[in-house]
Amino acid sequence: MRIALDGPSGAGKSTVAKALAKKLGIIYVDTGALYRTVGLFVRNNGVDKEDTKAVIDLLPKIKLNMEFINGEQIITLNGERVGDNIRTGEIAMYASRVSAIPEVRAFLLETQRKIARENDVVMDGRDIGTVIIPDAEVKIFMFASPEARAMRRYKELVQKGEECTYEGVLQDIITRDRNDSTRETAPAVAAKDAVLLDNSNLDVDGSVERVIEIIKSKVEI
Ligand code: C5P
Repeated sequence: MRIALDGPSGAGKSTVAKALAKKLGIIYVDTGALYRTVGLFVRNNGVDKEDTKAVIDLLPKIKLNMEFINGEQIITLNGERVGDNIRTGEIAMYASRVSAIPEVRAFLLETQRKIARENDVVMDGRDIGTVIIPDAEVKIFMFASPEARAMRRYKELVQKGEECTYEGVLQDIITRDRNDSTRETAPAVAAKDAVLLDNSNLDVDGSVERVIEIIKSKVEI
């Protein structure tokens, strides 16, 4: 079974997908981590993220591997685990920029498709239902208002000790939404056959419950 879980930044996809994977005994694949890893490499090489050609020229230097150990997703970049280095607001903005480059998306395509071919997955991203697994058994597009998403992300970052303001996080989310939904290649839009789920007024448990109802309406679990 393949569950495609798409939607904008901060809609709670990863939290919901993790809980779901545990419940169903399937793998949770966080595809944003791949774009973040490319973003990290671009940053660490001092390349301007707006310089498309320079970013593309870096791709042959990237050896990226994604594997799952006891259900945990491990990404290595040129042989080194990336860990939490990709989980900063700065790297999110790099990811957002580089993910608009068709060559970057093509570079990461097969890694994602291979995992979905070989495993039962819940895969979270932006174009999973439209591009990566267009024949997924279940497709859900999960979203919430920018304000609700910014508040969740802000609390998360504060808890991690990152310095930020709610206003700054909200602006980043609005910028990322704009980048993600207006890019020409694989914009973050719902697949025609996706079920839309607005979770502005739902907590994590409520969202998981709703997602399970949607899955049950499509397949037997
Ligand atoms: O999901 P996450 O916030 O970690 O993703 C970081 C960035 O990577 C997003 O803002 C988006 O631009 C990009 N992304 C994407 N396609 C995916 C997953 C993430 O373009 N499937």
